[in-house]
Amino acid sequence: MRFAHLTARERPLAVVEGDRVAALAMDGVATVDDLIAAGPQAWDAARDAGTAALDSDADPLQPGMLDAPLRAPSKVACVGLNYHDHCRETGMATPERPLIFAKFASSLTGPDAPIEWPEGLTDQVDWEVELGVVIGRRIRHANEREALDAIFGYTAANDVSARDLQFADQQWVRAKSIDSFCPLGPMIVTPDEFGDPQDKQLVARVNGETMQDSTTAEMIFPVTEIVSFLSRACTLEPGDLILTGTPWGVGGFRDPPVFLKPGDTVEVEVEGVGVLANNVGRSTT
Ligand code: MG
Repeated sequence: MRFAHLTARERPLAVVEGDRVAALAMDGVATVDDLIAAGPQAWDAARDAGTAALDSDADPLQPGMLDAPLRAPSKVACVGLNYHDHCRETGMATPERPLIFAKFASSLTGPDAPIEWPEGLTDQVDWEVELGVVIGRRIRHANEREALDAIFGYTAANDVSARDLQFADQQWVRAKSIDSFCPLGPMIVTPDEFGDPQDKQLVARVNGETMQDSTTAEMIFPVTEIVSFLSRACTLEPGDLILTGTPWGVGGFRDPPVFLKPGDTVEVEVEGVGVLANNVGRSTT
């Protein structure tokens, strides 16, 4: 099942199948965040109601119809340098343990929404296609099997990064948390439909040109190890989001470097999820 949010709705919960979308009405559940928090019985009910809604009341899915499929995760935890091919590209040593950093949830934005930043804040805005993991159950000190069981679903994310701020600050939160720097979606795919998270192609395109093209098989620390590792330090809550790292091909390590500018279109694609497209907007004040 594919869960999504419709834009500009008080009760945005929706289901997607192929190129069709249907609003999903459930008592006490208005958002995907609500659905995840409501637990496994509600997830089963949502599958049944979603299948019925797609049969009876679906609309063609058009650009601009979907918002980010999470409203307010309590955490957006991220992994840096988690791809062998990205480590080779940056010349950095392979980490011995997952390198964890965070993005603030205020950076979340949806498909087709603009990526933008205050004029003069940064000149080096970069893209990073990533597999996003959404936690379904509260876990702490989870082993890898428990970590796998705790996953609600998978999505695509663009870990947009201001490289000049990232390196000047010597830590990464500000550079990666500018409003609109976490495009997410277009939907969350449940594990039964998504399949093996370590066998998915990841692609990023800028203005139609392929910049990143790799596979989650290149991950240094696989999804279950990341979730287990995080849960040994901090309780993971339903709806928490984990970005699992990016492969080779980001703009800052190209020769010459390439950065995003107003008018560009950036698409990140995770096999089994779909394409998350965003335009780069004019600077905000
Ligand atoms: Mg990243």
